[in-house]
Amino acid sequence: MVRGLREKAGIPRPEVKMEEKMRQSRLFAPTLKESPADAEIASHRLLVRGGFLRRVASGIYDFLPLGVRVLRKIEGIIREEMNREGAQEVVLPILQPRELWEESGRWSRYGDEMMRLKDRAGRDFGLGPTHEEMITALVRDNISSYRDLPLNLYQIGAKFRDEVRPRFGLLRAREFIMKDAYSFDRDEEGMRESYRAMYRAYSRIFDRCGVRWMAVEADTGLIGGDVSHEFMVLAGVGEDRVAYCEGCGYAANINLAEFRREPLSGPERPLEKVSTPGQKTVEEVSGFLGVEPRHLIKCLMYLVEGKPVAVLVPGDREAGEVKLERVLGTSEFRLFHQGDWDNFPQYVQGFVGPVGLDGVDVLADLSLRGARGMVCGSNEEDHHLVGVEVGRDFQPNRFLDLALARDGDPCPRCEGVLRVAAGIEVGQIFQLGLKYSLSMGCTYTDEKGEERPVHMGCYGIGVTRLMAAIVEQHHDERGIRWPLEVAPAHVHLVPLNYEKEERRKAAEDLYRQLLEEGLEVLLDDREESAGVKFADSDLFGIPYRLVLGRVYEESGKVELQVRSTGERAVISPEEAAGQVRQALGRIGA
Ligand code: ATP
Ligand code: MG
Repeated sequence: MVRGLREKAGIPRPEVKMEEKMRQSRLFAPTLKESPADAEIASHRLLVRGGFLRRVASGIYDFLPLGVRVLRKIEGIIREEMNREGAQEVVLPILQPRELWEESGRWSRYGDEMMRLKDRAGRDFGLGPTHEEMITALVRDNISSYRDLPLNLYQIGAKFRDEVRPRFGLLRAREFIMKDAYSFDRDEEGMRESYRAMYRAYSRIFDRCGVRWMAVEADTGLIGGDVSHEFMVLAGVGEDRVAYCEGCGYAANINLAEFRREPLSGPERPLEKVSTPGQKTVEEVSGFLGVEPRHLIKCLMYLVEGKPVAVLVPGDREAGEVKLERVLGTSEFRLFHQGDWDNFPQYVQGFVGPVGLDGVDVLADLSLRGARGMVCGSNEEDHHLVGVEVGRDFQPNRFLDLALARDGDPCPRCEGVLRVAAGIEVGQIFQLGLKYSLSMGCTYTDEKGEERPVHMGCYGIGVTRLMAAIVEQHHDERGIRWPLEVAPAHVHLVPLNYEKEERRKAAEDLYRQLLEEGLEVLLDDREESAGVKFADSDLFGIPYRLVLGRVYEESGKVELQVRSTGERAVISPEEAAGQVRQALGRIGA
């Protein structure tokens, strides 16, 4: 509200009583000396030990007041940046009727990951794992013309996914907070522009949250669509792998990262069948014959929608399941089980190879094009072929990008080298195209009066996962080191010997001064030892700590400690407030 207007209108100023809540003696932030037994990673350990978080059941957590403060800061940043790009906030229900999910076909396809329940009349509902159906129905029923577009709607709220393996605290939970946004455009170009806007917003959001991140090309999986990027926070505990080139900036999820193939050529020798008794694995065969694993052709038998398909990769490489799924156009495939080998006795387990392999589709990785001097199974027990040349001795049905990239592989776009790093996926954006608008009938009439389907995009951020990812990048063995903009408070004011009357008074004065500066301050007003106070302060990870101790007694000065760097300075209380203000100014807060 404009200054003065409120007073003129007779609206009383809201009474902000932040300081009352931020007295540590009253704060509900139960810290722990020991790590919880189930906490395997730093963020989980430190968020629980620091009194931010408590576990209720597997993948389900309580957020305590300090945790909520951090969460609200992150949400605040997300809101600002979404609004800046013209997105509008909505709140959609968690409880979603089955009928909507039948429309998109995902009621059955989403599988066990969706938590499902029945109401008293026996009607089926799901707890929203994502909201494409909900939002498409809302927009479909409430827009009609091209004038209503473009539109970008978002919400921040709970999502439920019955993960196979909830773990790592907030990183893979079953109930978690997500920001999900959905864009609706007249045409493809509009959709691309909305996508770019969200890419920009995400870049600013992750920058402001203080994390080192990378956007990578990604698979669209269950959500669907063609173009997608994941936003990865680089951290050793991340479950994702990203391949990136420092030279040209190419970056992709390892699941679909491309790499430049170099010609494969093993020892030149005539095509010949050799005896390899009992040698089945790549390791065994390469050891037995004295050839490098990469000069073997690994022939993997897959059952694809009930039919066998042979997939060829060099012996030292793995075939990527996501790459295969894209190529096969179905997720219904798996490597042969024992039963499949029994059902298809023409394929000799351990000795199957592409030469003379009839009646089956043979898909070869790009690296095998023109490969020579190779070794492969002979389709005869205890024998392999050597001196095999692809193209001469057999011709695959197709050469495709099937093998997974590795650290050190040549970049597909430049002369550089790919690096592989672990990352936490904190966000993903998708160009959905017409997937939901066609199946759910979300259309508009254009300028000519013709009915057209809406082009959609969707955009998610794992808000609680992001909170954990921040901690993964910002902590030491003693606790969290929150970046200033997402910290539960700016300053932790820690007076020692608080039982002394004059110390208490000095602390109260400084506390008030800092609050008047507009800073968020947690005052440790407990009569605890310095050791206890510092241990808790380290766990909380508030960026600036002001200590009122012996130095204060001697010189009236305070000790300013910077949690992230460990820097210390003895300064006057006024200077301290100024320094924190300055730091806040630098981040625009
Ligand atoms: P993952 O591959 O890690 O299971 P996803 O690709 O299925 O995630 P999306 O559908 O893209 O997830 O959801 C958007 C965002 O929600 C993700 O980028 C991630 O940050 C977050 N998210 C997804 N699943 C979880 C979970 N189980 N716990 C916490 N956050 C999650
Ligand atoms: Mg994702």
